[in-house]
Amino acid sequence: MTATATALAPEPLIEVRDVVREFMVGEAPLQVLKGIRFDIGRGEFVSIIGPSGSGKSTLMYQLGCLDTPTSGTVRLAGNDVIDLDDADLAALRNRFIGFVFQSFNLLARTTAVDNVALPLRYADVGFAERRRRARAALERVGLTSRAEHTPERLSGGERQRVAIARAIVTAPELLLCDEPTGNLDQKVGREIIDLFQGLNRETGTTVVIVTHDMSIARRSPRVIRVVDGLLEYDGPPHDSHLET
Ligand code: ADP
Ligand code: MG
Repeated sequence: MTATATALAPEPLIEVRDVVREFMVGEAPLQVLKGIRFDIGRGEFVSIIGPSGSGKSTLMYQLGCLDTPTSGTVRLAGNDVIDLDDADLAALRNRFIGFVFQSFNLLARTTAVDNVALPLRYADVGFAERRRRARAALERVGLTSRAEHTPERLSGGERQRVAIARAIVTAPELLLCDEPTGNLDQKVGREIIDLFQGLNRETGTTVVIVTHDMSIARRSPRVIRVVDGLLEYDGPPHDSHLET
């Protein structure tokens, strides 16, 4: 990197500052995130790991504007999430973020291509163009031949590919994935991660994956480990951090 590029370092895509998230459980507040701070730059590939119940999904909801912190700030592409109302948050999500979850969340009686085209309905794209883009996204995930199949005729790995095609059809800058291989066997899971890595490399999409799978964490240049609502480690994968 040149001196000029360093001096003009662009703002990070995601800025998380002292994020606390509390839930009321009965009468008592339960602090699930206890003051988390990190940045994620454009084009990064990051795994978020940590024991079950440590707050990973809650953290991902903050990054994805699906929830807002009790205190602290989340800035996404320069927008302070706290300043936005629900409609603005929804617009930011639609414009910037693709989500992939453990359960693929596809519409059962709807073909793959129509599942993939769905997010474009909210983006004011005409019917023919929606189908064209949906087919291109299915091609990107290697499912051209399954475009007219409903989910029940697809394997688990194929369903997750449809969900990934749906996540990328709007060309988001950020892909947020919560346990995307949690319902898949190891070999299929590896293929899904290959796909995310390819997207990251070829399109520069920023990828953040919450995972239990240490083989995914090992393949990530950067690992963030959350334990009991606190950031315990942030750096390259390291065997001592990858045991649980
Ligand atoms: P992880 O994804 O790391 O398994 P989560 O972020 O799902 O962890 O949950 C962390 C903790 O926060 C858990 O103890 C969970 O029960 C609690 N929690 C999450 N959401 C809520 C909620 N809406 N109300 C109360 N407790 C919650
Ligand atoms: Mg979770």
